[in-house]
Amino acid sequence: MSVVVVETDTTNPRAGLREGAFGNATALACRECGQQVALGPFYACPECFGPLEIAYDFPRITREEIEAGPRNIWRYKALLPVPTDIEQSPNMEPGFTRLLRADNLGRELGIATLWVKDDSTNPTNSFKDRVVACALSAARELGAKVFACPSTGNLANAVAAAGARAGIRTVVFIPSNLEQPKQVNSAVYTDSLVAVDGNYDDVNKLASEIAGEEDGWAFVNVNVRPYYAEGSKTLGYEIAEQLGWRLPDQIVIPVASGSQLTKVHKAFQELVRLGLVEDKPYKVFGAQAEGCSPVSVAYKAGVDAIRPVKPDTIAKSLAIGNPADGIYVLDICRQTGGAVEDVTDDQVRDAIVLLARTEGVFTETAGGTTVAVLRKLVETGQLDPELETVVINTGHGLKTLDAISDRVGPVATIAPSYAAFTDAGIV
Ligand SMILES: *Cc1c(COP(=O)(O)O)cnc(C)c1O
Ligand SMILES: [Zn+2]
Repeated sequence: MSVVVVETDTTNPRAGLREGAFGNATALACRECGQQVALGPFYACPECFGPLEIAYDFPRITREEIEAGPRNIWRYKALLPVPTDIEQSPNMEPGFTRLLRADNLGRELGIATLWVKDDSTNPTNSFKDRVVACALSAARELGAKVFACPSTGNLANAVAAAGARAGIRTVVFIPSNLEQPKQVNSAVYTDSLVAVDGNYDDVNKLASEIAGEEDGWAFVNVNVRPYYAEGSKTLGYEIAEQLGWRLPDQIVIPVASGSQLTKVHKAFQELVRLGLVEDKPYKVFGAQAEGCSPVSVAYKAGVDAIRPVKPDTIAKSLAIGNPADGIYVLDICRQTGGAVEDVTDDQVRDAIVLLARTEGVFTETAGGTTVAVLRKLVETGQLDPELETVVINTGHGLKTLDAISDRVGPVATIAPSYAAFTDAGIV
């Protein structure tokens, strides 16, 4: 493994960085060859084009120090690429969402101990507020003028809102066929919502092109992706802390680009290494919708290569046909003894209603996918129903109302009289 730090020069944006701009982060390291690059707006290895990831020199940190922190993701700031005074800069303060004991859903699915990590209660109602908060900090420290993203919907919401609060110009790009609530939920915060005629992978390609041509643009999931991705680790930290500084036995995580799944695993590994939780085996499961299941297809075929697909599913927030972190998801799920599974759109709809009626949690299609996969994993014997299991709900159902609007509604429409009520035979 070569560890050569590329010399910084005056054209390197790092030259203007203030001391401690990225906290305990020390460099960007290639996930494939280990090559190190100075911290900056870089995402691909100059040697092998592999993805860059943040490297740290973590200080000794105790549970008590973390517990004394704010009730948001900044309680873990020592483990993120953000400055020590991050709370001072205007941001959305996401995180520390509920970990719900889901006994009703567990009973329904035959799982003894089940928890729902409910990230639908973040400021813009999806887990994306976590990653965007870290990307915003990086954009600010790197002196970006425009805060931008290609998005399947939720990311656009989070970027537009965080940029508004931070007082930085935002431009967000979405596929033009996106659910209307997700369009409104972005456009309300920004005057620059750009709808692109194409699918997410087309939008993503356009964003990379713009990032290459324009100066001063921070595309959260493109050129500042290494910083952005680290935000997902906070999901893993929180789950462990909320379980009383323990790791679960099994965890089911939705897969779009695959970043979240890889980072939750990384978070668990870091907690073990830092002595904050006891080491133990745990299984990681990935959830996809059948209409966009390139990772699950590769998993089932027993191959390492992921063949890109054209998405066709109601789970639009997971509709990435060419997932950047797909191969790492395969590795993690295989190594930990988990699996990657997929479900039909109808199973997604059923699971949305099931979660709502058992736990009072209204999830979007991504959460429907995850709960439906959980159910399928139990039914097919891939997940052990006796082991403690966590399922992540990553977004709110109000954003994808259309998915279930023909399944739920009034049981009857009646005249405003007691007689009409009793006649309707509701009770
Ligand atoms: C973006 C997103 C995901 C998955 O994100 P990746 O890290 O790209 O795999 C899951 N759920 C929801 C609701 C999302 O918006
Ligand atoms: Zn490399």
